[in-house]
Amino acid sequence: MTQSAEKLKELVDGSDNIVFFGGAGVSTESGIPDFRSTDGLYHQQYDYPPETILSHTFYESKPEEFFRFYRAKLLAPSAKPNPAHVKLAELERQRKLKAVITQNIDGLHQAAGSREVLELHGSVHRNYCEKCGKFHDFDFMLHSEGVPRCTACGGRVKPDVVLYEEGLDMETMERAVRFISEADMLIIGGTSLNVYPAAGLIRYYRGRKLVLINKSAVAADLNADLVITEPIGETLVQI
Ligand SMILES: [Zn+2]
Repeated sequence: MTQSAEKLKELVDGSDNIVFFGGAGVSTESGIPDFRSTDGLYHQQYDYPPETILSHTFYESKPEEFFRFYRAKLLAPSAKPNPAHVKLAELERQRKLKAVITQNIDGLHQAAGSREVLELHGSVHRNYCEKCGKFHDFDFMLHSEGVPRCTACGGRVKPDVVLYEEGLDMETMERAVRFISEADMLIIGGTSLNVYPAAGLIRYYRGRKLVLINKSAVAADLNADLVITEPIGETLVQI
């Protein structure tokens, strides 16, 4: 065990109200690319940059192109939970971890067995008809062509994913604030904290065990009690 993992284990062992806040780095170890990182989708060939395609305006004006990108880049049918997802689910079963708050939309925490998962940016596993509200699952979206149409009424089916220009779900945000403000330990993993609303949410933490785990150094100086610049799965698997 590395020295930092040992210190992390000590903090986790002494806590029973841990909250985990995770970003794209948690999913990259499952093979899902971070479209904000330098080796992510930005540098791949597409007619528009990802932030343009994943905006509400684009979704409304060029839905065919939106869904072409969406199916190719945001749906990852073969991705499996990695050791970070598995460990967090285990900590919840041990009643040490209260919630996972994630910016990812892939559903891998639930696939690993986590139950209290707050998805700030939505999920690719939930899709609703814009006309009648009928639910459509991941496989339906994966195998759809062009603009996906509701099986009941023919309306357009929209992924329950927060696009650029769209607001976050306020109820989820309020629950996230509550979990963070009541936590005795906060582990932030796989995010550089540059992405809204990460940095703002973390200000609500009042405890004394703030841990940052990210492959590269994070932008904000948060006076963390422990900073680990290692991949998150490799770190958590040791504790
Ligand atoms: Zn419908």
